[in-house]
Amino acid sequence: MKDIDIHGIGMTSRRTRDRLINRLAAQGIDSVEVLEVIRKTPRHLFVDEALSHRAYEDTALPIGFGQTLSQPYIVARMTEALMAAGPLDRVLEVGTGSGYQTAILSPLVKKIYSVERIKPLYERAKKRLKTLSIHNAQFKLSDGGMGWSVMSPFDGIIVTAAPDQVPEELLQQLSEDNGRLIIPVGGRGVQDLWLITRHGDVFKREVLEAVRFVPLLDGIQR
Ligand code: SAH
Repeated sequence: MKDIDIHGIGMTSRRTRDRLINRLAAQGIDSVEVLEVIRKTPRHLFVDEALSHRAYEDTALPIGFGQTLSQPYIVARMTEALMAAGPLDRVLEVGTGSGYQTAILSPLVKKIYSVERIKPLYERAKKRLKTLSIHNAQFKLSDGGMGWSVMSPFDGIIVTAAPDQVPEELLQQLSEDNGRLIIPVGGRGVQDLWLITRHGDVFKREVLEAVRFVPLLDGIQR
């Protein structure tokens, strides 16, 4: 029987989403929780309608203003690495973008503090997540390289734009008790995805894999 598909282009069908999940599992994403959230989250609502037929491909997609929504594999990998030591209460996300990563984190953590520096993206993501009944995220238009100090410490910090070096403020806003920071580090082009864990004043760093992110930029764009 044919899949029921209200948009007529296959993007919402069960089979299309299952194919993506199978692919992520084959690429080494083990967390059933993470795979299940990705299966349930309507990625086609986070990109321009003209691109929605590609929403369940494992590919990065443009979201306007020169920014991109990461490929599902990277979203899954970062989420899985963030959660690997157990459940997290307070998470800071730097680079709200479309809000897709926020939506993926939403059922997995208690509270998300998400910052974005481009005003129209910030406004759209906020609205989109409200429409999707996601209520455990708080948004701020600001330069996330500074973190969000009044809300710190964070059990986890996830950064989805790449700085040349890890901002000191983010390290300082990590919980001293096993705080976890996932961040792409390096110049324009290819970067290393780092997982940094904090125990007191000791920061342990490991490189997870090579990634490509847009740069982390200073200041706000209105
Ligand atoms: N995670 C997003 C995609 C990230 S694209 C999603 O799921 O859609 C990277 C985002 O980081 C862009 O929206 C970009 O504007 C934002 N960004 C870059 N530098 C930033 C900074 N210093 N503070 C906050 N956001 C920043």
